[in-house]
Amino acid sequence: MKLTDPSVNSYAGQRRKMVEDQLVNREIKDLRILEAMNRIPRHLFVHESLQHKAYGDFPLPIGDSQTISQPYVVAAMTEALNLKESDRVLEIGTGSGYQTALLAELAGQVFTIERIRSIGLKAQKLLERLHYMNIVFKVFDGTYGWPDQAPFDAILITASAPEIPKMLVDQLGDNGRLVVPLGGLEKQTLTLVTKEEGSVASRELGYCKFVPLVGRYGWPEEKEPPANTKRI
Ligand code: SAH
Repeated sequence: MKLTDPSVNSYAGQRRKMVEDQLVNREIKDLRILEAMNRIPRHLFVHESLQHKAYGDFPLPIGDSQTISQPYVVAAMTEALNLKESDRVLEIGTGSGYQTALLAELAGQVFTIERIRSIGLKAQKLLERLHYMNIVFKVFDGTYGWPDQAPFDAILITASAPEIPKMLVDQLGDNGRLVVPLGGLEKQTLTLVTKEEGSVASRELGYCKFVPLVGRYGWPEEKEPPANTKRI
């Protein structure tokens, strides 16, 4: 990332405080994650009217009923992926692109899929403006994964799934790590899935709350009730 644009350098004090209070104090230990989150201009990933809240300890709306995740959740999921500089990573749910930027800072190549076109294109524009060169974007239903580019060293699903999406586990390489919020629509368990010599294991990391993963192997798209049905 090149810091040529003056707006990139705003909020440095709040950013440092976010890293100290929300990450270091909650046992995020990976220095590369702490340094990257101290660099990435999170305020640019939200609407101008919310920029002053961008370093708060909560998610924020990004439009279309979607959210940018809480900084701690972004850090915890990334730490669980245990990324190496050479890793190829698949992200499902580009959203604001903030998590994508962090993955791009830590891994070799990031493939990211977003189902809502306007959201995906906005994130792509911003990440290109910030000069990230190692991100490939796609607008599609990410529950199919990205078969042409598989296998991946790591897969991150940033929306909640009713069960571990099988297509995605199939696209995980040997020693691969996948992180997904699993459970109902109201509450999920952040789960780490690992693959070693073809055998798959999973471990629970803690509770979380994400917007739903909507698609063929996720939650069904909400259908409008017929016009003559009363909403209670
Ligand atoms: N990491 C993002 C999280 C955004 S919220 C951030 O912090 O900004 C989750 C995103 O997943 C939403 O933008 C939503 O549209 C997207 N999403 C939901 N289901 C999807 C699917 N099947 N494929 C791709 N993206 C999906």
